[in-house]
Amino acid sequence: MTTAAIIVAAGRGTRAGGDLPKQWQMLSGMPVLAHTIAALQGQVDLLVLVINPADRARAEDFGLPLVEGGETRAQSVRNALEWLADKGITRVLVHDGARPLLPRAVTARVLAALEDHPAAAPALPVTDALWRGAERVEGTADRTGLWRAQTPQGFRFDAILAAHRAHAGEAADDVEVARAAGLAVAIVAGDEDNLKLTFPGDFARAEAILKGRGMDIRLGNGFDVHAFAPGDHVWLCGVKVAHSSALLGHSDADVGMHALTDAIYGALAEGDIGVHFPPSDPQWKGAESHIFLRHAMGRVAARGFVLANCDVTLICERPKIGPHQGAMRAALGAIMGVDVDRISVKATTSERLGFTGREEGIAAMATAALVRA
Ligand code: MG
Repeated sequence: MTTAAIIVAAGRGTRAGGDLPKQWQMLSGMPVLAHTIAALQGQVDLLVLVINPADRARAEDFGLPLVEGGETRAQSVRNALEWLADKGITRVLVHDGARPLLPRAVTARVLAALEDHPAAAPALPVTDALWRGAERVEGTADRTGLWRAQTPQGFRFDAILAAHRAHAGEAADDVEVARAAGLAVAIVAGDEDNLKLTFPGDFARAEAILKGRGMDIRLGNGFDVHAFAPGDHVWLCGVKVAHSSALLGHSDADVGMHALTDAIYGALAEGDIGVHFPPSDPQWKGAESHIFLRHAMGRVAARGFVLANCDVTLICERPKIGPHQGAMRAALGAIMGVDVDRISVKATTSERLGFTGREEGIAAMATAALVRA
């Protein structure tokens, strides 16, 4: 099952005020779209951004595939679906770029409903009384069975692609397109926080909701072991250290950097080095470990986090680590783009006990803390 999400951000809507379309305005120090992307990341396999061509330069910073929008919202979504058509996608979510506070539970409910339904979308029941009229109340309307529609709207991919190909003209949303093609759309519970930024006041409300959520703090740990093999140096935390043995491994066997990289992936709940750089793939044979660490830090930035600090412990009898600690912290800092005072490297022996005590190899453990304000 491969799930994609299309974030529709091609609109030029400026009802929210300001010079920029609302999805590019700042919210708690980041563009609205950066929040929206972060809200979906980790829950889908592939994210696609539908943009207005005028926004291409800004949008490239996100490092996501970009598709240019069309004349209408329906055409914009269609363009993204066509772009995804040959990519083995089985489920797709379509989400408004201007809904940056999407709770993860809402996305999870939509995805779960797609197990049993060809389409599913979040909504909230209408609770206010409904009136008709202009300046005076001219009538009331029954709210029974009425819902306020939200996104992400989820679909089995082939079904919504066919529905869009068959649909002519504009549609309020993709549920309308799906229903026109005869698809049954399940309703799942939406969330009041999943508001669509439309008017200037919505930004203040969104800021308040973000403040209420507080800081998002993630911790991860990593552990790695490499065995000794014949050689005259080892690589540890990016520093070449002379030694009577080398470390065995499919790359430079930098056990410290591997543990640290896994700690970062762990904090993001994005697997480990083996997931991102499969050892079975020949292109990573002999790859230098800084490639892995840089990739992990790229994921940190893409998810809207920064590294608060990290701590690496090397476990070995020899070589002595102390003389190299400063160089190791500096090397890691340069690779990660992080101040050295946020990076700790320390070492311990295992009192001659166990495999590290018998000098059969080196073990390393690491912790990383990430924060998103
Ligand atoms: Mg390793």
